[in-house]
Amino acid sequence: MGAFETLEAEATACTLCPLHRTRTQVVFGVGSATADVVFVGEAPGYHEDHEGEPFVGKSGALLTRLLHEIGLAREDVYIANILKCRPPDNRDPLPGEIEVCTPYLDRQLELIDPRVVVTLGNFATKYLLETSVGVTRLRGNRYRFRGRVLVPTYHPAAVLRGGTTKLEEIRGDFGLVRRTIDTRRAVPAPATAGTAPPPTGRQASPPNRADREAAEETSPAHVEQLGLF
Ligand code: SF4
Repeated sequence: MGAFETLEAEATACTLCPLHRTRTQVVFGVGSATADVVFVGEAPGYHEDHEGEPFVGKSGALLTRLLHEIGLAREDVYIANILKCRPPDNRDPLPGEIEVCTPYLDRQLELIDPRVVVTLGNFATKYLLETSVGVTRLRGNRYRFRGRVLVPTYHPAAVLRGGTTKLEEIRGDFGLVRRTIDTRRAVPAPATAGTAPPPTGRQASPPNRADREAAEETSPAHVEQLGLF
């Protein structure tokens, strides 16, 4: 069994937080374990909890459509959430749940080693960029993240509630993802040590109290923004 399969088996048997008591099954993630792009959402909902796959309801259909619009299929990317089990009644993830569950996501990102990470919604964006600033202010730009590029955008569920303006905005963000993939394929990263600024996104260790308190104070100015192109 490879490292990725071992991690999935660990998560599938996880009882680290109370969500294991109410889940139907763990929703680890889906897609290519060697993908260039990883999408990170919030937590499984009703349909995901029953089917064992992230983004399979109406939000999933929108995500699939947006991927197709930029020439990608679900199988080309990897899709995961910051929580692997469904919170009851689809409530927001609690800080304690995020703290104990996100090491799985951190390890997924390490093992997949994508070029681009796309955060879908506030919870994924705030966690990975270590900021308290909401996605509405951060979206539309790219950010340095663990030596990769992170593109924050809305959660598809918010787009379904938000009408045509949000739909056009998320389309713009997916266009940015497409251009980022194309550019990073065409122009290899500089090989010289020190030419690339250090990553500012969260490292692969579990967040502690100090991390969370620091995140409360983080503003967009502390998150390294890359140039648009
Ligand atoms: S949500 Fe995460 S930490 Fe909690 S039981 Fe599920 S896999 Fe474990």
